[in-house]
Amino acid sequence: MGAEPALPTPARRLHWRSVETEFVNWLLSRVPADPRLEVPPGDDAAVLRPPAMRRTVVTVDMLMEGVDFIPGPDCPARAIGHKALAVSLSDLAAMGARPEAAFVAVSLPRAGGDAIGRGLLEGISALAAEYGVTLAGGDTNAWDGPLVVSTTAIGSVPPGAAWRRDGGRPGDLIVVTGAFGGSLLGRHLAVEPRCREALHIAERFQVHAAIDCSDGLSLDLGRMMAASGTRAAIRLAAVPIHPDAVRMSGQPGDGRSPLEHALADGEDFELIMALPPEAAHALVAAAGTPPLGLPITIIGEVEAGSGLVAIAADGSRSPLEPRGFVHAFDS
Ligand SMILES: [Mg+2]
Repeated sequence: MGAEPALPTPARRLHWRSVETEFVNWLLSRVPADPRLEVPPGDDAAVLRPPAMRRTVVTVDMLMEGVDFIPGPDCPARAIGHKALAVSLSDLAAMGARPEAAFVAVSLPRAGGDAIGRGLLEGISALAAEYGVTLAGGDTNAWDGPLVVSTTAIGSVPPGAAWRRDGGRPGDLIVVTGAFGGSLLGRHLAVEPRCREALHIAERFQVHAAIDCSDGLSLDLGRMMAASGTRAAIRLAAVPIHPDAVRMSGQPGDGRSPLEHALADGEDFELIMALPPEAAHALVAAAGTPPLGLPITIIGEVEAGSGLVAIAADGSRSPLEPRGFVHAFDS
């Protein structure tokens, strides 16, 4: 008998399918029942019971091996799963929305894909449990390519209450949670979405506009200003700089100041908001006590105009170029 002929493609597909089915069955057995699901995962589609008198907020993200993470000892599958859901929850936070449900689609590498898939789900389900998110469904594929994880997060807000990017007005103050820069030293994986903070703020303070910092403080603030048709004047001395930004700046050959890291590094996943002055000052006064157990800082003001302006310690003003991470095509 000679060597077995290569299987035709459909049979190979069938074999992969059966491996996936085993994984999916395991996955389904791990997902807790939730009253928000009229039809739970495992059917052709999930059926959600939307909360009464609330709008549905939907966001999709995709993380790609080599771009958003590099698997290794410092970046296990569990951490990738955590990040995949955390970035989507951060987008819900930036809308002032309450997280409700999530869907996860993964392309697993065929080599070691089963262990990677289980690790991913560990990270995802731990974070989902922490934030009261029900895992409502997803899709699992195996292929010869790298790991790709796509998360769809569903949230809810009262009608008309979603925070938007385009609501900033001249005279508003620009307020941020936490500190910025140097996230590559580890925080870019251990993302803590500001969901609890956002809900607390949304219930108590008037927020005109908001965005989360994924690509860089100056870049994301610039996007919010562009959407609002306004300019941001940033007092550089007020920008909260993360200790990681200082550490990164001190690394040999870095050549950038901690402030530059804070303005451009991205993946801080903090909230950037525009509030009327009274609300901004009240919010800052409320910072530091749970659930706002983190620094909240006024870094500048919204003005008529466009773009960003930096205000130095001596009061002098100069244009500030928004910098950060941009997905680029080859030309
Ligand atoms: Mg965002």
